[in-house]
Amino acid sequence: MNEITPRLRFAPSPTGYLHIGGLRTALYNYLFAKNKNGKLILRIEDTDRKRFVEGAIENLIDTLNWAGISFDEGPDIGGEFSPYLQSERLGIYKELAQKLISEGKAYYCFCTPERLEKLKEEQQKQKLPQAKYDKYCLHLSKTEIEEKLNSCIPHVIRLNVKPDQKIIFDDVIRGTVEFETNNIDDQVLLKSDGFPTYHLANVVDDHLMAISHVIRGEEWLSSTPKHIILYDYFGWEKPIFAHLPLLLNPDKSKLSKRQGDVAVEDYREKGYLKEALINFVALLGWNYGDDKEFYEIDELIEKFSLERVHKSGAVFNIEKLNWLNFEHLRRKPDTEVLKMLRAEIEKSEFKDNKYSDEYLLKVISAMKERVSFIKEYLSKSPYFFHAPETYEEQNLKKRWKEDSAELLNKLKERFELLNNPSKEDFEKVLDEIASQLGISKGQLVHPLRIAVSGVGEGPGVYDIVYILGKEETISRINVALQKLS
Ligand code: GLU
Repeated sequence: MNEITPRLRFAPSPTGYLHIGGLRTALYNYLFAKNKNGKLILRIEDTDRKRFVEGAIENLIDTLNWAGISFDEGPDIGGEFSPYLQSERLGIYKELAQKLISEGKAYYCFCTPERLEKLKEEQQKQKLPQAKYDKYCLHLSKTEIEEKLNSCIPHVIRLNVKPDQKIIFDDVIRGTVEFETNNIDDQVLLKSDGFPTYHLANVVDDHLMAISHVIRGEEWLSSTPKHIILYDYFGWEKPIFAHLPLLLNPDKSKLSKRQGDVAVEDYREKGYLKEALINFVALLGWNYGDDKEFYEIDELIEKFSLERVHKSGAVFNIEKLNWLNFEHLRRKPDTEVLKMLRAEIEKSEFKDNKYSDEYLLKVISAMKERVSFIKEYLSKSPYFFHAPETYEEQNLKKRWKEDSAELLNKLKERFELLNNPSKEDFEKVLDEIASQLGISKGQLVHPLRIAVSGVGEGPGVYDIVYILGKEETISRINVALQKLS
């Protein structure tokens, strides 16, 4: 049997930045399309001119590119990729709105904002559950309409919703969904500026672009009955709908700016890896039915299905994201980490220092299990990038004893005799001195760690001195002896 190739779309409005929920919608569409060998289309829904933000489209595309979400189709795919822009398709919407008018399925409305405001107030006074247009203009005569159009009175085109009917549709995630048409407003389809509203443009484009599956956030569920009416009025086949669960803060309120970052670019700037963010976002509403949490994109593509998306809200847990960042960073090949570390050094106060690849690779293997972010190589082990200028007060008290200076002097003398020492050579020196003097190794290790790193934590001290090398280790011991004796 010949299965139809699914056609998906991501249809953001360019309101400034890509919301983390938008990334999830884009990702689920992408995963579904890739899983089924389908096509994914990027369509920019820029019909709300009041909300349009300069540079927002470029920013959206840049962020999606960074996240690795690629699209298959745009108006002139071939060279440079470009998305469909609804603002370039105004003629199409206008023509179809006219068609609905000619069939009595939509009508001109000339009501002034003042009249609509008054109507709303009256309805509020009557405590009606929601304000609805009263179909006043539906009853204008043909001549009245002609006259008003000829004298250029501002107008919109409204959907003519028939009362007392039920709109029922199936949602892959939510099951059967039912709405009463009595609760549906005669939605504006075409605004007085000639631009369509979201509802008209969205349905028209989903049809013309032959979209088979509409996967979008739950906040659009209440728009769907209006869309169903439009599909029926036009006589078009409906796509399959899947509304993704809401994203929630840990306190179960709707994910909002107030409680943390919601823009993908904020996470990017903070140094989250795209692999970690994608993995994290994939789990916001989906799992494979086991406890597995670490995923690479290929496995997500292979395992993703809409059937395993749940309906209950998905809680945004930043600790999980941090853990995933750690896991993804840890599993990257050292050579890739090296490139990222070099880029991080370039942005830092250490940018003028020269570090060899060999040196940085040693730092990476020592710190790998201790960092969740690239920038932590610098913040958690600055001593690999410059000699300590101060020594942690707390640790000095605990670890720098009366005999520390004398012991470090001894250590230094023995280190000086070493020739191109390995990590084990340094360790052997400590072992020998400790046994000769009948002291614990800790008496040497603690002051040595303070002298070379300035802090009390980090990888093994033998790793640190080995990475720093003999000369640098001795020079740091000298400085510490001067400053601390
Ligand atoms: N333009 C809508 C948005 O900004 C698209 C909703 C939909 O996918 O239908 O999310």
